[in-house]
Amino acid sequence: DGKDGNELVETEKPKETLEDVGGLEEVKKKIRMNFIFPLQQPELFAAYGKDAGGSLLLFGPPGCGKTFLARAIAGEINANFIHIELQAILSMYVGQSESNLHDLFQQARQNKPCVIFIDELDAMGGSRNTMRQHHDRMLVNQLLLELDGLQSLNDGVFVIGATNTPWYLDSALRRPGRFNHLVFVPPPEELERETILQLKLANKPVDRLQLLKIAKETRHFSGADLEQTVKDAVEHALERSLQSGSIEPITQDDLRTAARKRKATTLEW
Ligand code: ATP
Repeated sequence: DGKDGNELVETEKPKETLEDVGGLEEVKKKIRMNFIFPLQQPELFAAYGKDAGGSLLLFGPPGCGKTFLARAIAGEINANFIHIELQAILSMYVGQSESNLHDLFQQARQNKPCVIFIDELDAMGGSRNTMRQHHDRMLVNQLLLELDGLQSLNDGVFVIGATNTPWYLDSALRRPGRFNHLVFVPPPEELERETILQLKLANKPVDRLQLLKIAKETRHFSGADLEQTVKDAVEHALERSLQSGSIEPITQDDLRTAARKRKATTLEW
């Protein structure tokens, strides 16, 4: 299905950097200190006995930038990027799930430096069905094997996990050398929402906008909600442009109308 050769998923080379991620300054700082700078200046960090990497676990409500951050980390260190959706792997037969997971890590090793992003980590272990629990356990064990293997090889493969519900996570995954950096990716605050709106509107024809006002009116919106709001506003402006035959700027009203039609999704978390 449009994927190269016999690779299971596409290996991408993201262009995003941490600059493209709006707000989340604390998170970005932690990522720079633990992942980016140690790779760029290994001698400096070695002098303090601090080395690069380990695996990062991002958690927080949906749509607030976990995937985006993982891509940006790959972008920052000029690495390849492989996105593993655990749900899809779990739906395979016992045995096949594990070998596929192994193949994906293998694919990452062949494409190093490479960031592996494992989404929906909580999908493992949430099941009440005994057969499924056994299946989950086998996959957790395989993942542990892969993570431990990486550490000893120290071979330019970085693993970033994401979950909306870290409290359901198998505790074995949290031991040292595994997902030991746990980072909360919170919903954007007012000023962060303003920044995200700015980022999503950059290089588009806009009227004189008061984005702080929109930010105030979009409490509990995720970054994804804000992105969708801008897309809807663009749609309004486009329709006007088609009617008038010239480029109509996006107005405050376009944004306000779009925002009012949208429900904030971080509240349900
Ligand atoms: P899920 O838990 O559902 O996987 P997520 O936290 O991984 O969600 P992302 O996929 O990173 O969410 O975010 C969805 C989209 O929302 C991104 O593609 C991005 O465009 C936008 N977005 C989210 N947060 C931010 C942010 N802080 N700055 C800029 N864009 C953002």
